[in-house]
Amino acid sequence: MKNIIKILAVLMVLVFTLSIVGCSAEGNDKANSGGQEENVQNDANANQAEGDAQDSEDASAESETMKKIRETKKIIWGTNAEFPPFEMREGDQVIGIDAEIAAKIAEKLGVELVVEDMEFDALITALQSGKIDFIAAGFTIEPDREKQVLFTDTYFKAVQAIMVQEGNEEIKSADDLEGKKIGVQNGTTGDFIASDIPGAEVIRFNNGIEAALDLNNGKIDAVIIDNLPAQMLAKSNPGLVVLDEKPFDAEEYAIAVRKGDTDLQQVINEVLKEMKDSGEIDELANKYSIGE
Ligand code: GLN
Repeated sequence: MKNIIKILAVLMVLVFTLSIVGCSAEGNDKANSGGQEENVQNDANANQAEGDAQDSEDASAESETMKKIRETKKIIWGTNAEFPPFEMREGDQVIGIDAEIAAKIAEKLGVELVVEDMEFDALITALQSGKIDFIAAGFTIEPDREKQVLFTDTYFKAVQAIMVQEGNEEIKSADDLEGKKIGVQNGTTGDFIASDIPGAEVIRFNNGIEAALDLNNGKIDAVIIDNLPAQMLAKSNPGLVVLDEKPFDAEEYAIAVRKGDTDLQQVINEVLKEMKDSGEIDELANKYSIGE
């Protein structure tokens, strides 16, 4: 009997030990595969100074977009490069605040940045169809857009501004816009606001520069456009001024990714946090707004 108990005890110890070894082996497997995946990302991140790669705890959750970015070693930024100081052309380069953010996103992922410059109102469709991987375009978070794209954290506060010809005695506030010819960029928040003004005739342009030209020529009465671009346009069009009064809702810019691309959203949020915390975004606003 004693022997049987002894044998049983030995067996139990054996089973117990085996199960522990089994568990830890499994644990090691997991840790290893996790490590390997991190290495793949780190390979891509070869130039990255800090080793804060995304945790690969749940590798199966990688989005198709992230997989494609890793495999092609490219990320495609969609924008409308006619929106200084956020994006504008300099030779064949696109520069500006969003351009620097986009470059940081690519750097963080250890991949090349490809720019797709298109009409502003084509951006959402381009994102949804997979032509681009993210939108950075002074893009305001807006309920209707939230239904179509996934926004990141915000990185810039904005408000729509009214531009008129210098010395205009008729339009001194938003109330004076009723029944007027208002120029806007097609599909922007300025367009939405102008469309709600009673009796206003909304003239839609592909970009603010064209709208400012027609305002200068007296073909339209006012332009509604984001505050910072308005200031830039007024600087390069001496005949135009921006009204001090900005009665419209506060807006916030964010970057947009495809619905479901939460892993890319998370990487972009990290980049934005770093750039906001270090004061870099504010510095960029100064850098690109001055001297134009
Ligand atoms: N902030 C505005 C919007 O999101 C305008 C952006 C732009 O013209 N690039 O509609």
